[in-house]
Amino acid sequence: MTLKSKTILAGCSRSELEAAVLALGQPKFRADQIARWLYQNFTADPMAMPNLPRAFREQLKNSFIAPAVRKLNAATAPDGAGKLRLELPDSEQIELALIPTPQRNTACLSTQVGCPVRCRFCASGAHGLIRNLQAGEMLEEFMLAAREFGAKPDNVVFMGIGEGLLNFSELKTTLDRLTGPEYFAMSPRRITVSTSGYLPGIRQLAALKQEFTLAISLHAPDDETRARLIPDPLRFPIADILHEADRYRELAGRMVTLEYALIADLNDAPEHARKLAAIALAHHTKVNLIPYNETGGPFRRPAPRVIENFTRILKNSGAAVTIRRERGSAAAAACGQLTFFSREKKVSKEKRATWEE
Ligand code: SAH
Ligand code: SF4
Repeated sequence: MTLKSKTILAGCSRSELEAAVLALGQPKFRADQIARWLYQNFTADPMAMPNLPRAFREQLKNSFIAPAVRKLNAATAPDGAGKLRLELPDSEQIELALIPTPQRNTACLSTQVGCPVRCRFCASGAHGLIRNLQAGEMLEEFMLAAREFGAKPDNVVFMGIGEGLLNFSELKTTLDRLTGPEYFAMSPRRITVSTSGYLPGIRQLAALKQEFTLAISLHAPDDETRARLIPDPLRFPIADILHEADRYRELAGRMVTLEYALIADLNDAPEHARKLAAIALAHHTKVNLIPYNETGGPFRRPAPRVIENFTRILKNSGAAVTIRRERGSAAAAACGQLTFFSREKKVSKEKRATWEE
């Protein structure tokens, strides 16, 4: 949990907090005070914890990375969804998407800077992986979302930048803190982990035997079509993925969702829909269709009637299907449109200018 040899305060366990407080010569109850700031007020900066003695606040600031995540700027689409660009302690940058609706607020967290899977249709993977995020950084994303919403998010989805299951140990710590009664006390049912189908990670998540929602980005009903979307090294056979999905349902006790980005002339034919329906029924999964959000590459979103037809075939088959309503695309905050900006990355001036408008 250390970065540049210091620990991120927001990622500390309760016992680490206590040990730190005692080591700095303070009474134990100070750890509870800090915990209240972190988990109830979503404040990661000791300087903004006024009930701590000033000298102690400064000691904390010097001993820990606090805060680790700094908000650079925000973009909001007319539909209310938006994203924050965040800077990390080593100057890498990521994005956090915020999706408010009248019923619930959803925070969409990033798990890595970049992504090693490099799906051909996704902006997040275009440059590969820069580094994993630490639990403290993911937790600070959550805390920033809470501050933006003015309340603890109702739902968390790990659907931002990165393949969280390739960063399993930090993801697990983050999940433990989000759900721990002494921490953010969320229900695991309110948390969705989305994966490109990384099998070892799905097994590890299933072994936790907790009711996290698992969403698997299938995107194709056959391996041949899928190979056109996801490059080789990190793509697993569909049959193996579905086998693990069955196991996940048994161990975690939760229905799995198959995500399917609908891309024109690639995976949107009636035949694809029929095969997908057969898979969903055989494996008791839900299907979440995501009409493709264009990212400047060669892929296109299908015409509305193609999307409707695809959906109808699934529905008529009896499969449980939902369509992800497009949100935030005017702010480039929709699925697959999140990018990262790293210190050394050559991000074109035009791109920065659009973002900063
Ligand atoms: N790496 C994980 C989670 C992040 S991506 C995963 O791949 O599941 C979250 C979802 O957005 C995935 O289903 C992903 O395939 C989808 N996605 C990526 N780029 C997209 C795009 N341009 N349009 C629509 N969905 C996209
Ligand atoms: Fe990575 Fe997911 Fe994007 Fe694929 S879709 S490159 S796994 S973030």
